[in-house]
Amino acid sequence: KTSGRNRAVVYQEHMNEVLQLERTIEAELREALRTTDQLSVHFQPLVAQKTRKIVGAEALARWHHPKFGSISPVKFIPVAENSGLIEDLGDFVLRKSCALGAEVPGRTIAVNISTTQLRNPGFAARVFDLLYETGMRATDLELEITESILLDDEHVSAQNLRTLRSSGIHIALDDFGTGYSSLSYLRRYPVDRIKIDRSFVSQLSDGHDSVAIVQAIITLAHAMNIQVTAEGVETEEQADILGRLGNNTLQGYLFSRPVKADEIVAKFAGDPEV
Ligand code: C2E
Ligand code: CA
Ligand code: CA
Ligand code: CA
Repeated sequence: KTSGRNRAVVYQEHMNEVLQLERTIEAELREALRTTDQLSVHFQPLVAQKTRKIVGAEALARWHHPKFGSISPVKFIPVAENSGLIEDLGDFVLRKSCALGAEVPGRTIAVNISTTQLRNPGFAARVFDLLYETGMRATDLELEITESILLDDEHVSAQNLRTLRSSGIHIALDDFGTGYSSLSYLRRYPVDRIKIDRSFVSQLSDGHDSVAIVQAIITLAHAMNIQVTAEGVETEEQADILGRLGNNTLQGYLFSRPVKADEIVAKFAGDPEV
């Protein structure tokens, strides 16, 4: 039988390992950001619900380490956020995204933005610089922010969002339904779109409770003039139910995994009637 003391020792060792791993990831990521050749951005198609045409793509950071191989953003994004490296990493992703956006005018390029980035008073100006440098249109850019920003009292974040949005950039609320906020918070920030989290979408089947939840989210969003994207769509049945519920945009492995920039350009070219 393990004594309380032993359990505490095991826990301590475990925490030490976790901290050690985080420190390693941080040091390796700092190095990766110096030359950026281990880093890339992949793009996952966004598909119109009614026509099933590719209307845009979401940018997703990728890291291929020479020794450790592919490291998931689920692991390195939180480390980047806690260490401040997210500023440089986020800038890298935005630059690649704007470069793509300039190549494919008329398609929406959605980019994940951390709360840390939004709290930087220079953030909006940096986005405008990148749009100008690359020639991407502001109206083709969508910034995905998480629900946690709605609980953030930071005046700077709200100011950044207002400045960005007044230039025609769209704002999407990511992972909707997973946080502590509710639709009532949406009134605090100008939001053009919400993205229904995969955890709801994956449970969509006729007769399941999640159908009612998703229906309620879509109805309320539309009443507030907000568009809806369902993420993590993997089956035709899910896409079908979402269509009946009035969803606007689909994203998920049913259509495509995230692909390299040249592959997304080819997909856009093969699907011209937006
Ligand atoms: P997210 O923003 O919710 O992005 C969607 C995630 O779901 C992506 O994982 C995507 O590959 C995955 N996905 C898409 N369709 C499906 C599907 O049909 N089934 C399943 N099982 N998964 C699907 P990924 O690329 O591993 O990214 C994970 C998270 O890391 C993202 O979640 C986002 O929160 C964060 N992230 C990725 N890139 C960036 C970035 O450049 N900046 C910031 N701040 N966060 C990023
Ligand atoms: Ca996202
Ligand atoms: Ca999401
Ligand atoms: Ca998600």
